[in-house]
Amino acid sequence: MNSKISPGFLWVIPLSESTARVGLFADFDYKELNEILNEFLENNEELRDVKILKKYHGKIPIYDPKKDIVKNRAILIGDAASQVKPTTSGGLIIGFNCAKIAAEVVYEAISSQNIDILKNYQKRYRKMYNNELKMQLKVQNTYKSLDDDNLDSVILKLKEKEVGKIVSEYGDLDSQAPLMIKLIKSGIIFSVLPKLLSRKIFGL
Ligand SMILES: Cc1cc2nc3c(=O)[nH]c(=O)nc-3n(C[C@H](O)[C@H](O)[C@H](O)COP(=O)(O)OP(=O)(O)OC[C@H]3O[C@@H](n4cnc5c(N)ncnc54)[C@H](O)[C@@H]3O)c2cc1C
Repeated sequence: MNSKISPGFLWVIPLSESTARVGLFADFDYKELNEILNEFLENNEELRDVKILKKYHGKIPIYDPKKDIVKNRAILIGDAASQVKPTTSGGLIIGFNCAKIAAEVVYEAISSQNIDILKNYQKRYRKMYNNELKMQLKVQNTYKSLDDDNLDSVILKLKEKEVGKIVSEYGDLDSQAPLMIKLIKSGIIFSVLPKLLSRKIFGL
């Protein structure tokens, strides 16, 4: 983690003694992403002078609350529908849940020969995920505004306050709002964030 690519991050996943998957996601164009990745490889002793076997890249379509996902006879699911969590860029569970909603709605539309019923897919999806994903967008924006010193300080303070226990109890990667609400209500979030940001968080 570092503030330059925040709220994105870099990862190294070892595959064997001599091979690994190295990657990053961040809000930059392809050229800049390449520069960041190369800099990371150069500055990391274990990865310096590696041979790159294959390279992939792609776009991560994080949640867009304004995106229409039903039109006429077409419905969008998964990444195509921007059903992707802003905080982690994960889209599997939302995609699976929405596929189930889509199947039910399509069945209803066909059974009753009424294409308008397809619109219920977007309504049910928004009802299920809008609050959660909007909250995540706000968390992501807050996180984005922290520099490296702020990030270090926040993480150290969270550790001091033993927030790990609360995270174990309330944390769920697919439903992050309950943890955020707990941290806001208990006041912990205000005591670990820089003052200026704490005021903004009241808006959550
Ligand atoms: C590196 C990485 C790590 C990730 N880790 C996680 C994770 O840990 N947890 C998590 O929840 N999510 C994770 N995600 C996100 C997750 O993979 C996606 O949100 C999810 O796969 C989206 O599913 P999808 O079916 O909408 O799209 P995809 O999985 O992209 O499937 C779309 C398919 O359509 C095919 N296709 C495209 N165009 C055409 C065409 N014209 N004709 C026919 N076929 C076509 C593609 O080849 C592809 O197979 C990760 C993503 C990346 C890139």
